[in-house]
Amino acid sequence: MMNLPKPLEDLIAEFMRYPGIGRKTAERYALFTVNRLEESSVRGFSEALVAAKARIVRCPVCGHLTETVPCPICADPHRDLSVLLVVESSKDVFAIEKSGTYRGLFHVLNGNLSPLNGIGPDELNLKSLWARVENETVKEIILATSATQEGEATAMYIRRVLKDVDVVVSRIAYGVPVGANLEYTDEVTLNRAIQNRREF
Ligand SMILES: [Zn+2]
Repeated sequence: MMNLPKPLEDLIAEFMRYPGIGRKTAERYALFTVNRLEESSVRGFSEALVAAKARIVRCPVCGHLTETVPCPICADPHRDLSVLLVVESSKDVFAIEKSGTYRGLFHVLNGNLSPLNGIGPDELNLKSLWARVENETVKEIILATSATQEGEATAMYIRRVLKDVDVVVSRIAYGVPVGANLEYTDEVTLNRAIQNRREF
């Protein structure tokens, strides 16, 4: 393969850090950037990257990505404080919020247990979950991790830790295909999954 100028190679390498972007796509993006984009829009893009990284933080209460602390969901006085929906990532929160029918609070784990990848309980946002269960007015925990092996293992782990705590632990089940990621599940299916949760 022909050698590309170093600045182009560097740009390609940056695009390739993103999930789902291979060499070919990264090359297309890099060439598009230098051939087609205005100087000003390239600057705007780079400033948006830096600003997003600088201004978005994890909510100290629930772990959701937010610009304000606590996040708008935790700060909303109309939410049902007795239910916590435990999800893997902020993407799940955005998907469920878009459907607009869930009125409880969230807890974002920021991943799943995955011993093979070195992700144990300490790597997940779990300590604050235990604290919330103890200190807040939580009566039910809905485990909404994916129906994958890692999502199931994570749900089982949380169930085990909470076995002596006086909260109802339920698991979404109905309608979410086995092996499916929550973020790709359509809203109707997602709602049904929450409505038809079973005790766990
Ligand atoms: Zn929050």
